Amino acid sequence: MKILIASSNSGKIDEFKSILKDFEVIPQKHLNIEDVEETGTTFSENALLKANNGFLNSGLPSIGDDSGLIVPLLNGDPGLYSARYAGEHATDQDNRDKLSQELKKLNVQQTPASFICVIAVVNDQDLSKSLICEGRVDGSITVESSGHGGFGYDPMFIPQNFKQTFAEIDSALKHKISHRGQALAVLQENLSKII
Ligand code: IMP
Repeated sequence: MKILIASSNSGKIDEFKSILKDFEVIPQKHLNIEDVEETGTTFSENALLKANNGFLNSGLPSIGDDSGLIVPLLNGDPGLYSARYAGEHATDQDNRDKLSQELKKLNVQQTPASFICVIAVVNDQDLSKSLICEGRVDGSITVESSGHGGFGYDPMFIPQNFKQTFAEIDSALKHKISHRGQALAVLQENLSKII
């Protein structure tokens, strides 16, 4: 059975492949399907937009995902704009610098934060029949970065009950406790309900 991954991110595609062992996993690029614009107002809407675009263009069951960092002190920023917090073509470093600056403006060294990940699976034109899988990890953001693992905001994020950042924690452990790891676990448990 084939399943489409509506993402161009090779790291994500590998993660999906590792849990979808019974499927032939097809990255959307292989069918010349382009990334859709992320115009949703929630992580779920964006995940559904991606998955639905994959489904409409391939006719295959399709998986889309969206994720980001929420900092309540910054009114939920960087939120939906996590990948482009410092601008359209911002690097991970640019985004971390911007987040650090915003917290320093408020004289804050560390503040609560959460990573959210939503994975959507579309296998029907009626989107109410889609599967939505959510994962979340709570912790805090520090203005000083530590560690070289992971990506994005990992060097600034300390998960609850830990002393190290996500960039200092072993990647298998990060995967187990992370927002994406949790959403993937929900996906694994529920996929057979719609496929
Ligand atoms: P997207 O899900 O590909 O739209 O990416 C959202 C952005 O959120 C990424 O570019 C990162 O900046 C951030 N992000 C999402 N998940 C993580 C994570 O596990 N660690 C660090 N940053 C993350």
